[in-house]
Amino acid sequence: MTRQVKVGPLLIGGNAPVSVQTMYDIPLSRLEEKFESRMGVLKAMGCDIIRFSYPDIKEHDALCDVVRMCPMPVVADIHFDYRNALDAMDCGVAKIRINPGNIGERWKTEEVVRKALDKGVAIRIGLNSGSLPHQGREKGTVSLMVDTALEYISWFENLGFYDTVVSLKASDSTLSYEAAREFSMRSNYPMHLGVTEAGGVVSSCVKSTWTLGRLLEQGIGGTIRYSITGSIEDEVQAGAELLRTLGLRKGGMRIVSCPMCGRCSFNSQGFLREVEHELLATGKDICVAIMGCQVNGPGEAKGADIAVTGIGNKVYLYMNGEIYKEIDAVNAREELLKAVAGYSK
Ligand code: SF4
Repeated sequence: MTRQVKVGPLLIGGNAPVSVQTMYDIPLSRLEEKFESRMGVLKAMGCDIIRFSYPDIKEHDALCDVVRMCPMPVVADIHFDYRNALDAMDCGVAKIRINPGNIGERWKTEEVVRKALDKGVAIRIGLNSGSLPHQGREKGTVSLMVDTALEYISWFENLGFYDTVVSLKASDSTLSYEAAREFSMRSNYPMHLGVTEAGGVVSSCVKSTWTLGRLLEQGIGGTIRYSITGSIEDEVQAGAELLRTLGLRKGGMRIVSCPMCGRCSFNSQGFLREVEHELLATGKDICVAIMGCQVNGPGEAKGADIAVTGIGNKVYLYMNGEIYKEIDAVNAREELLKAVAGYSK
């Protein structure tokens, strides 16, 4: 079992549940109007930690606002300038992500570590295969990544700092997998898992699920991030789904939906697109089925808490496995969301 690291009120590693994280996709200088409610939605969807890029201390006030408004621990992502990390800690972030390799002289990283120790802030050493030191390349990328992380850890330990999480990411799935495996064999610090720059929804989900799923099954990984060129809501949904699929997370909204085919009397594809994020954002601990026709619709509806399915040329809303009422397809969204909002087991 790995060491356990405290990130605000959350624990990473040891016997703590595996957490899901994402990274905010807009600069702090342009925080959206609905920021706070979007964070609430992400949390309800299963996001446990959120990271923000912090490239300039001019955004100090915005970062402080973010820490105040986020219902989950905030991580500041720092590159190049160690003073940004020092400043971010004054805003109350729970964790700093740095790559000591791009911070410059060792003493600069050590300044960050000393302040983190003082403030009880965790640090993620985040190494990517694309930004490794030049020396030592002959030993191969995996060993170089692991050796580099272990060297940075020794700097931290020399200062009495142990609240470290490590990520070793590459855009190549096999490299990410092997680096995490080797690190976990040589160290007991918890890992943040991910495949970086993994592409769009489909590419990333295939690569990340294959990589992260195999690692998690071996007990490797304390926190995960799907990196998707898409929405951060998709990242959170993918992370939470993976944990549920592996039995590492219980509860939350489970959606069963058919792919749709020529038999359909209800457009399950279009309907799911319309309601999926809203359903997930309810954070309800229920199963909802969305089905196209009577071939599998009534069967899945019976096993779900709530369902909408086509049968013949009609559409029905089910509750607790029984037909509740016939509905008009154009009102299906409203009917379903109302049923979900009022549902209690
Ligand atoms: S439930 Fe009906 S519409 Fe959906 S995939 Fe199966 S047969 Fe096709």
